[in-house]
Amino acid sequence: ASRSDDDLLAGLNPPQLEAVTYRGPALLIVAGAGSGKTSVLTRRIASLLRSREAWPSQILAITFTNKAAGEMRERVRSLIGDRAEGMWISTFHSACVRILRREAQQFGFTKSFTIYDSGDSRALIKRLVKEHEGDAFGLTPAGTQSRISKLKNELADAESYARQANMSDPVERVFVEIFGAYQRELQKANAFDFDDLIGQTVYLFRAFPHVADQYRRRFRHILVDEYQDTNHAQYALIHELTRPIGSDAAPVASSGGMMIFEPEPVGEDAASLTVVGDSDQSIYAFRGADIRNITEFERDYPGAKVVLLEQNYRSTQNILSAANAVISNNFDRKEKRLWTDVGAGEPIIGFTGYSQHDEAQFVADEIESLHKTGVDYSQMAVFYRTNSQSRALEEIFIRSAVPYKIMGGTKFYERAEIKDALAYLVAVANPADEMALRRILNRPRRGIGDVTETSIARYAADQQITFRDALANSSALGVGPKLQAAIAQLDAILAEATAIMLPSTGELAPPTAVAEGLTLLLNKSGYFDALRRSRDPQDEARLENLDELVAVTREFARNNPEGTVIDFLSEVALVADADDLDDASGSVSLMTLHTAKGLEFDAVFLTGVEEDLIPHRISANEPGGPAEERRLFYVGITRARKRLYLSLAMTRAQFGEVTVAMPSRFLQEVPSELIDWRQSPGDVNSRGGSRSRALNARPSGGSDSGSWGSKRYGDDLAPKSTAIDKFPNRIPAKVRDNGDLVLASGDRIRHDDFGEGRVDAVTGEGAKRVAHVRFDTVGAKKLLIKIAPIAKI
Ligand code: ATP
Ligand code: MG
Repeated sequence: ASRSDDDLLAGLNPPQLEAVTYRGPALLIVAGAGSGKTSVLTRRIASLLRSREAWPSQILAITFTNKAAGEMRERVRSLIGDRAEGMWISTFHSACVRILRREAQQFGFTKSFTIYDSGDSRALIKRLVKEHEGDAFGLTPAGTQSRISKLKNELADAESYARQANMSDPVERVFVEIFGAYQRELQKANAFDFDDLIGQTVYLFRAFPHVADQYRRRFRHILVDEYQDTNHAQYALIHELTRPIGSDAAPVASSGGMMIFEPEPVGEDAASLTVVGDSDQSIYAFRGADIRNITEFERDYPGAKVVLLEQNYRSTQNILSAANAVISNNFDRKEKRLWTDVGAGEPIIGFTGYSQHDEAQFVADEIESLHKTGVDYSQMAVFYRTNSQSRALEEIFIRSAVPYKIMGGTKFYERAEIKDALAYLVAVANPADEMALRRILNRPRRGIGDVTETSIARYAADQQITFRDALANSSALGVGPKLQAAIAQLDAILAEATAIMLPSTGELAPPTAVAEGLTLLLNKSGYFDALRRSRDPQDEARLENLDELVAVTREFARNNPEGTVIDFLSEVALVADADDLDDASGSVSLMTLHTAKGLEFDAVFLTGVEEDLIPHRISANEPGGPAEERRLFYVGITRARKRLYLSLAMTRAQFGEVTVAMPSRFLQEVPSELIDWRQSPGDVNSRGGSRSRALNARPSGGSDSGSWGSKRYGDDLAPKSTAIDKFPNRIPAKVRDNGDLVLASGDRIRHDDFGEGRVDAVTGEGAKRVAHVRFDTVGAKKLLIKIAPIAKI
């Protein structure tokens, strides 16, 4: 090996080295959390490229999120430099979008197809359930959507499903009708839903073997991270890509629409496949992920090499011991013991709050004190089981001026004004998408109501033209002159934006076309004006969000000088939970446990460790539910490098009511000598009177639970019947608006909770002004002036 090879392989342990350098048709790397699976995959790519065994274009690497893809690409680049250009490193969905954009015209779509996110398909299914009177048969939009999604993940379509369903059951019949109608509507709108992106690519490869062969020829090395969370459709996609070139015999569908494959010898011509995964981290069964894809890999790819990794490089021994202990309660798993040579490290810290606000305050204070000892905010993360738990954390973080970032970029794109703006772009990019056109018809208000919408649809049906073309014929619609003018105007601005964003063949759109087109649409439609004129304070936020979207299009133009509006919409549609709009550096990351997969942080706060949250009450009674929840808990624990906090609250406002929370059963599975309780359920118990089923935890020496008393929040949420009422000085914290309060250094203030103090400095501007205050009793604090409970004295 050359010297440069040495640094590529430097520091790898023997099984890691083997996994990087093994050459053969199929390689399975199974290993526990933090053992270097993703690192090994990355180095394997680098090693294939450096040794010139592969061109970048021959690599297809699949990661679970776009963010992970970006990181892997960067890492490969840093290992071998420019030779990394041109690889496909992406999620399953992004890879399929790229393939479908090239090939969709093979089967009745155009390359400008729209991608329906789950909200879009929900809206469509809702309409169809209504049209087919599904509710009379007990069919709900949500239930129908998730059933269709599950079937698609098994590669079943409406017809194949109907063949084996019990069609004498009226409910089944209606379901099949809706399923079929849904598919027809998607086709008509030139749209794919998320599941179709994978399923239709599999269909493409099976129906058009010569197309599949092109990709088999191209991708000679296929690598998949987080393989334990692939579903059947994704499995089938990989299987199609790794069949020998020229093998066009398609597998047969068996009952249930499940495709059954005969194991076939991996021919010389087949691409090489590397998958890495950990069955203990399989957390997407509810979305159809099938752990068998990993457990049966050796059957599906006979002769596959298997490498096991056991040394963990991420966490301290205390954290690993906790993780090992918890996961060993799942039966039916291969026993594996992670170990590390970094030593025991800090104890795990436990805390029980009186309420979720109290818990959040503990987290915020702990973050501040870690920060003071030099831990960067970006190296800390707070996890929770459900999104709704973030609210209490956010409230306290804002008050305490802890910089934070919620991971879960989709939220931004779920906002109504953003969806409106994107619908305008879709209406330009894919005129066949009737749903997008209907959405913008009366946004902003143009006086176009349901009646007019129906007239347009009827005219389109009569003339056998599209909804979009009907708009261009406003004078023929039989509506009054005012409405006619409004429709003509909408038609005109769509045409004008089309000319900017999708100029005629041969003419190049400028890189800023999307930004220009979007700005034009929002200006000329009157959308911006309507928000500016409004007195609703929320509309100001909406304007800011739209400005942000315009900024996103500019950023897109910088990164993709040749990107079209279609590329932009694809990118937006595929923003996944773990992806973030902007750089999270300098902020604490807040996210759900599902989003945390694959990540690592110096300090991790696992909050809400309570029954009904984890295990979640929905999963608790489902077959396999608690085991999957335990894996989720295991994923959370194993994200921590040096410090792990497990916290819970005694009471929690959840699902619209305040409930007394019980410690999670998983907490009892962590050996008690590993946890140092700052305030244990036991402490709370002894001070607060009786509490059934309280955890029998060992209160630690020097527990100073009393010191939290002055900072408790939100007693208005506590149920009247609990012992909590007995605690005095629980001041309800009302959010107030101090936006106009002028403070200067030297001023004295009084804070509802912290008492009196002196302002040292004021930083930031507007709503983000922060006062740095030295309180007489509690010391230095940073306060967001706008909402802190303070007054000048
Ligand atoms: P997960 O199961 O959580 O996805 P993983 O198995 O993919 O984890 P990695 O994320 O690849 O693990 O690695 C965990 C950490 O260990 C990373 O910080 C990585 O840089 C480090 N690491 C991996 N292998 C080594 C090694 N041989 N020497 C030093 N550090 C290593
Ligand atoms: Mg990994």
